[in-house]
Amino acid sequence: MKELSRTEIIHLLSLSKRSDIEGLFKRAYEIKKEFVGTKVYFRGLIEFSNICSKNCYYCGLRAGNKDLKRYEISEKEVLEAVDIAWKSKYGSIVLQSGEISTPDFADKVERLLDKIKKATNNEIGITLSCGEQPRDVYQRWFDAGAHRYLLRIETSNQDLYYKIHPNDKDHIFGDRLECLRSLKEIGYQVGSGIMVGLPFQSIESIADDLIFLRDLDVDMIGLGPYVEHSNTPLYEHRHYLIPKKDRFDLALKCIAILRIMMKDINLASATALQAIDEEGREKALMAGANIIMPNLTPQKYRGDYLLYEDKPCTNENAIQCKGCLEKRVQKYGESIGYGEWGDSKHYKKRKK
Ligand code: SAH
Ligand code: SF4
Repeated sequence: MKELSRTEIIHLLSLSKRSDIEGLFKRAYEIKKEFVGTKVYFRGLIEFSNICSKNCYYCGLRAGNKDLKRYEISEKEVLEAVDIAWKSKYGSIVLQSGEISTPDFADKVERLLDKIKKATNNEIGITLSCGEQPRDVYQRWFDAGAHRYLLRIETSNQDLYYKIHPNDKDHIFGDRLECLRSLKEIGYQVGSGIMVGLPFQSIESIADDLIFLRDLDVDMIGLGPYVEHSNTPLYEHRHYLIPKKDRFDLALKCIAILRIMMKDINLASATALQAIDEEGREKALMAGANIIMPNLTPQKYRGDYLLYEDKPCTNENAIQCKGCLEKRVQKYGESIGYGEWGDSKHYKKRKK
């Protein structure tokens, strides 16, 4: 089948009639059904530390935000959260944190991976999302049992990249690309993605992002709407933002278009969707997504892992999350892939 052209992608991103947009979602859903099925895979999300040495202008965890209580969850607490995931038959977990590039942090994560593998009989799949790290650290974590890594490019447009990050040695666009390359070479299933609806971001630039992700040939994509945080530098440009509802629609369109472009990848329904629409994550399933990340972070830390404001479920615990999500997913007629890793079919094909 012919690949979507840039012009076609721009056209799809610009659809404004509700019936046309629904038509796009339907087309994506049919492709999802054919290529990856209608099973949703859960990845229990453990936000194990909000300490971050970077200063991304959009994110509430940035080092410059002094109004945040910093935490690092103890090994014991992480293992308890892992146990909930394992017993709930989630199949996989995601360990996410701010970015810290110290030898001590690398050791800690390595030890943690080893313990998680042992505690779950090697049964639980592990995705990491701990930012940019030296290649040897990625390799050590891979050897210790992590097999997927999420690192969003955020935007593939370098001008925009430097409008939303400081232009200094800690935030180099080329370094991020290099990290994505290393992760792939090491053998991870690699996930990337973007934020949609950033100030200064054009439809054309989003179309280029989608083409960039296709060319990068990633196995997984996680993308969501940009949601402002009042304690970050990007907040001062909020008057450039399109309404939240439009950012939400745009993110859903991106998901649908990516499903059409990259049929057999795993596509996550981002939590940020739910910050805008109560049923946002389930609606994304109808537009082509097939992965949901229920939050397993112990409740007492959730209020301090605020990448953006209005983050949902900060006052729920893991068990409440599970029950609530199950009902929501089933309401939309999808089933849940309990006890399976639900690896990216694209990765398996790529490795053949
Ligand atoms: N520190 C790691 C992982 C945690 S941040 C990293 O940066 O990769 C995970 C993702 O949260 C980021 O990639 C970014 O896309 C998203 N994020 C951060 N701030 C956000 C905001 N204000 N709105 C929406 N998404 C945001
Ligand atoms: Fe840190 Fe990630 Fe937030 Fe950037 S996006 S400030 S690296 S937690």
